[in-house]
Amino acid sequence: MLPFAEAQRIVLDNTPVVGREKVPLRQALGRVLAEEIVSGVDVPPWDNSAVDGFAVRVKDLKGASRQNPIVLRVVEEVPAGRVSLRPLGEGEAIRIMTGAAIPAGTEAVVMVEDTEAMEEDKVGILREVGVGANIRRRGEDLQAGSKVLAPGTVLGAAEIGVLASLNRGYVFVHRRPRVGILATGDELVEVGEARAPGQIVSSNTYTLTCQVEQCGGIPFDLGIAADRVDHLRERLREGLDCDLLITSGGVSMGEYDLVREALQGMPGEMKFWRVAMRPGMPTAFGLLDGKPFLGLPGNPVSSMVCFELFARPALLKMGGHTCLFRPSLLAVAQEEIRIKSGRRHFLRVRLERVGEEIRISLTGDQGSGILTSLVQAHGLAEIPEDTPLIRPGERVKVLLLDRGLTFLGREDRL
Ligand code: AMP
Ligand code: MG
Repeated sequence: MLPFAEAQRIVLDNTPVVGREKVPLRQALGRVLAEEIVSGVDVPPWDNSAVDGFAVRVKDLKGASRQNPIVLRVVEEVPAGRVSLRPLGEGEAIRIMTGAAIPAGTEAVVMVEDTEAMEEDKVGILREVGVGANIRRRGEDLQAGSKVLAPGTVLGAAEIGVLASLNRGYVFVHRRPRVGILATGDELVEVGEARAPGQIVSSNTYTLTCQVEQCGGIPFDLGIAADRVDHLRERLREGLDCDLLITSGGVSMGEYDLVREALQGMPGEMKFWRVAMRPGMPTAFGLLDGKPFLGLPGNPVSSMVCFELFARPALLKMGGHTCLFRPSLLAVAQEEIRIKSGRRHFLRVRLERVGEEIRISLTGDQGSGILTSLVQAHGLAEIPEDTPLIRPGERVKVLLLDRGLTFLGREDRL
């Protein structure tokens, strides 16, 4: 059977990065940059004062101290947003505020705390300062022509602030990938719909929709397809204008698992039908009319975990992200873990901090129908194919889900 790592690589190799669109800067938070940002200007645009104080010539301050204040004539006042009308002359000071442009002839700014007020137009300077003191130089943050943000950058508050300071009102970002989600199964009904005996609600529709949104995609609910080849084909065709098509259920070996048969009559090329992993062995992937198609298993845990491991990195790649995988850490097993060798296992675990150590424990029953195990889980313990037994005290790789990151943040504050 196809090893997990190879399956993941095949999925990533066959998912193209989507194109770009222009969005107003105010709507760019969380989006992925699809252009290189080169500064057209210097930031700050001119030398300016880092403090409230007095613009001076260094040579006028020889020997200044608290005991021996040097008295200068205050010839002007320059608040932020105004510029000085005259160059600074010998024996003169200009009162200047933080952010105001440095007047011509100025060598340094003395902060107001190092001066003493005197009558009307005089100031006493209480210390010497070096050339350049308290002056923020033109271009010290960004120089015209310098590279500021690389394509693939996720735009957060700081990045958007930088773009604003470059006077950019809009920005090119990757389009959000459109993802069609089709549930399959005669037993399924929508939330709120009347249920006949034997029917259940399609919870996968909801978990998958949320997971797509969390990866920056736009979900399109294609509804529920009955276990009938014609019905499946009709619904699959409706999803072909999406960037990625995801189905759940109908891909294992049962009599009513008809997704394979439905696909066989459609243009495309399937790359795999089974993966050596648990949960999620019956996971299928291929191209359907040129579009990536991912057939997830129907069991709620398998569906969610396989989305996490295949669809999430694929969607992040499609959306222009450069960081595709969850952060991981090594944590200490508290209990014995046995797995079926030859398959990579992804077990739902909770983290616990004991002193300096992070320990893990399984979230109870690992059955692929126990969706509450994912409500509990901080992460997925990734157990390699060749490690049938983990003994208590051994270290295990854990992929951190969002809840795991929250856990670590909360613990680190204590
Ligand atoms: P299947 O792969 O179609 O044989 O489905 C495996 C199991 O997952 C069965 O118990 C299905 O009832 C269940 N299942 C399939 N699709 C969904 C869904 N959309 N929501 C919840 N359970 C599902
Ligand atoms: Mg089914």
